[in-house]
Amino acid sequence: MRRMPRTDRVLMGPGPSNPYPEVAEAFARPVLGHLDPEFIDVLDDTCERLRQVFRTKNQLTIPVSGTGSAGMEAAFVNWVEPGSPVVVGVNGLFGERMCDVAARCGAEVVRVEAPWGRALDPQAVLDAHPAPAIIAVVHAETSTGVRNDIEPLGAGKGDALLLVDCVTSLAGIPVETDGWGVDIAYSGTQKCLGVPPGLAPLTVSERARERIVERPRSWYLDLNMIARYAGATGARTYHHTAPVSMVYALHAGLGAVLAEGLDEVWHRHAECGRLLQDGLQKLGLELFAEEGHRLPELTTVWVPDDVLPPGLDEAGVRRTLLERHGIEIGGGLGEYAGRTWRIGCMGHTARPRNVALLLAALAEVLGR
Ligand SMILES: *Cc1c(COP(=O)(O)O)cnc(C)c1O
Repeated sequence: MRRMPRTDRVLMGPGPSNPYPEVAEAFARPVLGHLDPEFIDVLDDTCERLRQVFRTKNQLTIPVSGTGSAGMEAAFVNWVEPGSPVVVGVNGLFGERMCDVAARCGAEVVRVEAPWGRALDPQAVLDAHPAPAIIAVVHAETSTGVRNDIEPLGAGKGDALLLVDCVTSLAGIPVETDGWGVDIAYSGTQKCLGVPPGLAPLTVSERARERIVERPRSWYLDLNMIARYAGATGARTYHHTAPVSMVYALHAGLGAVLAEGLDEVWHRHAECGRLLQDGLQKLGLELFAEEGHRLPELTTVWVPDDVLPPGLDEAGVRRTLLERHGIEIGGGLGEYAGRTWRIGCMGHTARPRNVALLLAALAEVLGR
């Protein structure tokens, strides 16, 4: 028999964080049929809570069954037709993933790049193509800890649809779907929403809804069919079985966020990010992301060889943190693997006490 995972870990990686206590309780609720009126009520209320967190009035606001990447696929496959010009801002791993997804849908992908660790230039994104069908950008690049500005893109998008990855920004930093003119936005449950992985919240403006292609080249992610089930008014037609317990969990997680208040939640993330980033610099470490565009919920830091204690490499420090202190932090990605750390502080984990614990443990392991 394998032992169940330990429950006392402080997960400060960029992945799943410890859920809000309400969320853990939600998983213990009896499982109803996915068309049971009581479940449908919870689903409808979940969509309403998502509208509040996305700050939108969009009718088509639903949890897509699948992780954040399913949200990304749904966001492209329902709009891109072969040859559609799609401008993608690329300054990290998830911008790259958007290019891959868009290209597989047949898009003519126009890349606008910025170096990893720096923010995209919104004007360069707007100038990249005279008439793009879609302008796609990652709001919070989890691979680099950088925040890209969305508001100028909404102001200058013209006839294009503005598509934004909010996987690591929703409920961590301000996201103003309607206020910024975002047409298509998706997120994931396991980042700042503080719910285990499994659903991808998605919201679609009326203008984008009118442009959904008739026959998207995915059956499972076809929003025309999904909308007749989730987020629908009137008769519901079976499309696929909603992951009932995950919907309960998302409902509870959104409830925790809204009960605390979005402003408070943003403030808590901002405070923890500041404490963490100040503390790391006091330990003599240099931050990786461009100043002014640093995410509070995901901090990246350089790990030069001379900060490492004798006999431990970068991965060894992370392993020691995990084994001795029960704290998990993330390693760098791409060409920054082995040279940076990515420290998540999001959702229920974003508490000053967790920041203090990590900074003390890191100081001990590094001998500083
Ligand atoms: C985590 C993440 C994704 C992918 O989400 P999964 O749940 O891993 O499929 C997409 N975009 C960003 C910015 C992310 O951080």
